[in-house]
Amino acid sequence: MAYNYDLHAHSTASDGTLTPAELVAHARAQGVDVLALTDHDDVGGLAEAARAAREEGVTLVPGIELSVTWSHQTIHIVGLGIDPDQETLTAGIARQHAFRAWRAQEIGRRLEKKGIGGALEGARRLARGEIVSRTHFARFLVEQGHAASVQEVFRRYLVRGKPGYVPGDWATLEEVVGWITAAGGQAVLAHPARYRLSASRLRRLAAEFRDLGGTALEVLSGSQARDHAIHLAQLARRCGLAASRGSDYHGPPSPWVELGRLPPLPEGCTAIWETPGWTGPVAA
Ligand code: AMP
Ligand code: MN
Ligand code: MN
Ligand code: MN
Repeated sequence: MAYNYDLHAHSTASDGTLTPAELVAHARAQGVDVLALTDHDDVGGLAEAARAAREEGVTLVPGIELSVTWSHQTIHIVGLGIDPDQETLTAGIARQHAFRAWRAQEIGRRLEKKGIGGALEGARRLARGEIVSRTHFARFLVEQGHAASVQEVFRRYLVRGKPGYVPGDWATLEEVVGWITAAGGQAVLAHPARYRLSASRLRRLAAEFRDLGGTALEVLSGSQARDHAIHLAQLARRCGLAASRGSDYHGPPSPWVELGRLPPLPEGCTAIWETPGWTGPVAA
């Protein structure tokens, strides 16, 4: 029988709400056989997740989701099957952390100017791992009654053109794919349909990503509409890229797609778990 692969999920090590062990237990309850933990710019949850996975009988793929600035836009690259202690990757993660720490201070300062005090401290309190993300700011603002939902905070405060938005550059695509491959992993372009790129820019991104050594596109993602799958499968095939499947689950309470519940990959895709570089189990 085919395994149920969910190759994109978050824990409290970044902006998820379940601890790594809770996430693994939840994956098992949802029938996931192979789970990748892919926290934003951090690998701090992987040891706990690996222990829990051994106990629960789930196969854990050690992963990460790295932020990239490509052509003035933020995009996300998932690394799967990484060695979390590899030194090139470790140095890259330290750089991402430094940018996040600076950006968090800057977001706090900008919100303060708009009359919202204590946001940096509030976001830090809600962050249970090492990184502070915009999600933590959003949760703090909801907690303080500035908005009814996390989505509303993003819309009113945290996206480009809004008072708490901080411009600045993450690592480049080339650097991030390099860190992942140096750590023995495979790089996946996360939720390609979420960037709202024109068809030609998306083709350019996919081709550049492949030329840099990327392996797959997330053809199925909980954070993009299902109807993109056929067209993304076609794009992957044309570019010589494989296909990945990941819920991008962040835990309750949330509008995210449940773990392990996406449909199977469309016909004609090469699944990332069928590629030669795959480090996890393969269905018989
Ligand atoms: P950061 O990496 O700190 O910039 O935060 C990005 C994270 O914020 C994403 O991974 C999502 O989990 C979350 N996010 C981004 N946009 C939205 C939105 N419009 N509504 C809710 N969450 C969002
Ligand atoms: Mn997130
Ligand atoms: Mn993402
Ligand atoms: Mn994600």
